[in-house]
Amino acid sequence: MAHNVTLLPGDGIGPEVASAMRLCVEHTGVKINWDVQEVGEVLIAKTGQPLSEGVIESIRHNKTAIKGPITTPIGKGFRSVNVQLRQALDLFACARPCHYYEGTKTPVKNVNLMIFRENTEDLYAGIEFELGTPECDKLRDSINATSARKIKSDAAISIKPISVSASKRIMRFACDWAAKNGRKRVTIIHKANIMKFTDGLFLKSCTEVGEEYKDRGLTVDNVIVDAMCMQLVQWPHLFDTLVLPNLYGDIVSDLCAGLVGGLGIAPGANYGDGIALFEPVHGSAPKYAGQNKVNPTACILSGVLMLKHLKEDAAAEKLENAVKAILREGKEVTYDLKENRNDPSIVGTMQMAEAICRKM
Ligand code: NAD
Repeated sequence: MAHNVTLLPGDGIGPEVASAMRLCVEHTGVKINWDVQEVGEVLIAKTGQPLSEGVIESIRHNKTAIKGPITTPIGKGFRSVNVQLRQALDLFACARPCHYYEGTKTPVKNVNLMIFRENTEDLYAGIEFELGTPECDKLRDSINATSARKIKSDAAISIKPISVSASKRIMRFACDWAAKNGRKRVTIIHKANIMKFTDGLFLKSCTEVGEEYKDRGLTVDNVIVDAMCMQLVQWPHLFDTLVLPNLYGDIVSDLCAGLVGGLGIAPGANYGDGIALFEPVHGSAPKYAGQNKVNPTACILSGVLMLKHLKEDAAAEKLENAVKAILREGKEVTYDLKENRNDPSIVGTMQMAEAICRKM
């Protein structure tokens, strides 16, 4: 039976890595009806908007989607399409495996971390007030009237909501995954010493859920986010499964991507209730767009996660093993995986994908 999957190629390097992923996934023999939908700059050029209701409907209908990265203009213009998709589809759990593959250039070896980032709230919720607007003035005046701490008149304001329900939901998702996958330790990351009410609530809610999993062989502990960054760099092997609020999850997962060979390697998945959207951790790297240059591995490994989700475990294993073989050999790989960036044996995005197909 063929699976129906929404494919969002994205923009920048997105269409290139998405084509590479599609080639490899199809080469496993699994039949997929791809429902290709335009988003980002490609759609802006046609309609003036980076996201359409049709895209969201397609994902709701197919229940499984995979995407390339999408550009978000900094400080102006449109809200992030990624954030809009996560919120519209309530994709509350972002899972980012950080797994060492032999042959990659890494500061340490054999890291095997799983990161769960809460995807719907925190400073990422998009509740922002621009300096000089009546809304910002009103909010500032209201806060200044009730808070001992005062906000300056030349400040913009972003709001950080953290709820019991969303914190418990991500923790339960992470603990279920850890228990099912034979993991032993779940670490809650926070800054509750400073943000006592928001991060404090995240820590309390997650700790309560963690109690329910003690008899399922899980040890639950917590570490403050800044200390965690240092410990991850020095002793990443001490850690196993991490659970973070949205913003720390975004930052710490890039740090962990660096531990396993960089953004070109790191895959990701966003899960909601019955819906899953897979994507590489990296962005649209506009300076490399259209050059057939960047590493397709992160998007291809996102395809591996998608195949597992579709219960095509044999195909997922076959594709992952082919990726492993190509990385281990280190011959037909993109520039970022070579010691010397002028190495004449460097291959392009599509050529690396074709080499992976030949290994299956
Ligand atoms: P980026 O991840 O696009 O690129 C940063 C650098 O990482 C690149 O210049 C390149 O050196 C390297 N890199 C990234 N992907 C690579 C790959 N596949 N192979 C080899 N090297 C790779 O981050 P950025 O420059 O901060 O962001 C560019 C745009 O992407 C922004 O608009 C940002 O908002 C957006 N973005 C989108 C997503 C998403 O769609 N999920 C995620 C992150 C950033």
